[in-house]
Amino acid sequence: MIKTAIKTKAYAATAHGEELKPLEIQRREPGPSDVLINIKFCGVCHSDVHQIKDEWSNSKYPMVPGHEIVGIVDRVGDRVSKFKAGDRVGVGCMVDSCRECDSCKNDLEQYCEKRMVLTYNDIELDDKTPTLGGYSEIITVDEHFVVRIPENLPLDKAAPLLCAGITTYSPLVHWGAGPGKSVAIVGLGGLGHMAVKLAHALGAEVTVISRSYNKKADAEAMGAKHYVATSDFEAAEKAQNKFDLIINTVSSAADMNTYLGMLKRDGTMVLVGAPSDELPIQAFSIIPHRKSLSGSTIGGIRETQEMLDFCSKHDITSDIEVIPIHVINDAYERLLKSDVRYRFVIEIDSLK
Ligand code: NAP
Ligand code: ZN
Ligand code: ZN
Repeated sequence: MIKTAIKTKAYAATAHGEELKPLEIQRREPGPSDVLINIKFCGVCHSDVHQIKDEWSNSKYPMVPGHEIVGIVDRVGDRVSKFKAGDRVGVGCMVDSCRECDSCKNDLEQYCEKRMVLTYNDIELDDKTPTLGGYSEIITVDEHFVVRIPENLPLDKAAPLLCAGITTYSPLVHWGAGPGKSVAIVGLGGLGHMAVKLAHALGAEVTVISRSYNKKADAEAMGAKHYVATSDFEAAEKAQNKFDLIINTVSSAADMNTYLGMLKRDGTMVLVGAPSDELPIQAFSIIPHRKSLSGSTIGGIRETQEMLDFCSKHDITSDIEVIPIHVINDAYERLLKSDVRYRFVIEIDSLK
């Protein structure tokens, strides 16, 4: 239960199968270590659609999605040392974790051994308060889970960095994307387009693997040196045994064996895309040439700030289409058809 609460406007789905519509929700008054943020923009991640539709079978309603949150600090609790009113800040996919386990102590809160608390569709560590996301006017978050948005990054274009950015930066860095490495990005969507920009800035030779040739010019403008359309059988054949690292952002389980075939000896394919269907992997897709299949989720808070500072240095932001919140249900339909270049971002002032 929220003892001292602030009412705020939000968009929510109140039950499975319902569209998003306006709902008044409550946020807690900032406690000693909390930051109260006036949200300015919130990106629209494919995970929002998976969860609104209960595709991961864990949805809780009413659900206010949104975990690519940027805004301005309104006020802070007594013990907050990192932020003050007026600061430009962001909140990504998580708002708490145990802070005591080995993962938390190693700045890997996303792999907390108790559990991380997701920004929405989750329950706080009190085991009773539901978390509600960024399709709303304000949010109260412990300062540990708030990051600083560098001054040279426009807030709207920076919003997608809080999920799409960190989710691709973390595995790129962990698996050593850099000079001399051949890196392929599967799926040029919200995550994929950030992965291309980040891998290129890290110094890797980047290939985009997309379903068609429609996005080739965009991919090259983002820094891709090569482009493979999987609809072109010959081009896909030529891409066999080519890559040290594949970051797979696809939200569908199909074609995994085709992508694994494109890895070199000792190469790794990292799944960040999270299809709800089981993956059809053949043993002989990984046994020859000692290939690996791995997964990765978002990134820790220290690494999220590192990613934002890297983006600031390299002038990297997301390609976005800003939308008012009342078109969100249509935006979901368009996202499912990959009809967005490359991320929808909600202007939260449109909630007023
Ligand atoms: P998105 O914008 O919809 O992009 C996904 C891209 O995958 C599409 O643009 C499309 O690229 C390709 N694609 C879609 N359907 C496909 C199909 N049937 N076969 C082959 N390719 C297909 O989605 P997103 O926001 O980037 O999210 C991608 C996935 O990552 C989602 O499953 C999301 O839940 C997950 N995710 C995971 C994490 C994590 O922590 N691991 C964090 C955020 C999101 P082309 O048109 O180029 O083929
Ligand atoms: Zn996301
Ligand atoms: Zn922990």
